[in-house]
Amino acid sequence: EAKRRGKACYALFTTTMRDAVLHRIDIENSLRDAIDRHELFVVYQPIISLEDRSIESVEALVRWRHPVHGMIAPSEFIPVAEETRLILPLSDQVLRESCRQFMVWQREAPDFAPSYISVNLSRIQLADPDLVPRTMEILRETGIAPHQVQLEVTESQLMQHRVMAGELLAAFKAEGIRLAMDDFGSGYSSLSCLQEYPFDVLKVDRALTENVSRGRGYSALLHAVISLAENLGLHVVAEGIETIEQLALLQALGCPAGQGFLLARPMEPSKLEAWWSTFVGEAFEAA
Ligand code: C2E
Ligand code: MG
Ligand code: MG
Ligand code: MG
Repeated sequence: EAKRRGKACYALFTTTMRDAVLHRIDIENSLRDAIDRHELFVVYQPIISLEDRSIESVEALVRWRHPVHGMIAPSEFIPVAEETRLILPLSDQVLRESCRQFMVWQREAPDFAPSYISVNLSRIQLADPDLVPRTMEILRETGIAPHQVQLEVTESQLMQHRVMAGELLAAFKAEGIRLAMDDFGSGYSSLSCLQEYPFDVLKVDRALTENVSRGRGYSALLHAVISLAENLGLHVVAEGIETIEQLALLQALGCPAGQGFLLARPMEPSKLEAWWSTFVGEAFEAA
């Protein structure tokens, strides 16, 4: 009986494995086509001042609507894109589209006026010696100013390519591009990183934001991170604000800005403009 069950489990396991491999190959092949056919699109999530409720920025997040599988999450296809280096053309598309969209807002929606657009970098890009010139070319093409662009890098990405990443970040900084450390507090966060690299913004990871309502120890930790960042001259954005309680606690800790489903979900441009025109800060009234 045990043997039979063992065999059944094994069979189940291999089937799942095979499905996973097929799915992956399928993703890889169709990702190539998706990039060529521009099936990928960008949604934008507002980053909002917790002090005056103004919109500071929007983060560009890539989406893929697959003709057969439907929506595929970035957590599923970004790793495949990285392994195949398709992330390079993909990232160029996301940056170009985001800059183009930002300039449309500047021209056509002056009331909806984020000061800059924030775009994620991949670890593969951080090892690409062409990254800075190609990025600057996209900025010129789209007419966006460097100070209107922020690039987000996570600490684990930095750790993988310490020297090169340091040079790239310094070069971006010299061009006037803003830099954010993304997902701070999600892994082996060493505070020295904040001071070692020329970051403008620290984005507090959702896990830390979630913990804020777990008790004094956690909120003391976040308070320390916020004051340290501010002492280093960094702006702070809390990611993943989902509840009114979290928002109220973050405000009490003096966190200057936030992002999260409670405030606004990532949205396509038309939806975002409509959201903005009715955004009266309901969450803030409740907090
Ligand atoms: P990230 O850069 O840390 O982006 C924030 C992620 O958290 C987004 O997930 C966003 O939808 C989600 N999020 C925002 N607010 C909340 C909240 O209140 N609760 C919860 N549970 N989640 C929230 P998304 O869009 O699925 O992206 C996941 C990750 O994939 C991103 O994490 C980023 O690392 C990567 N990614 C997304 N778009 C791009 C891209 O264009 N290029 C690169 N290289 N990576 C990207
Ligand atoms: Mg990010
Ligand atoms: Mg993040
Ligand atoms: Mg993340």
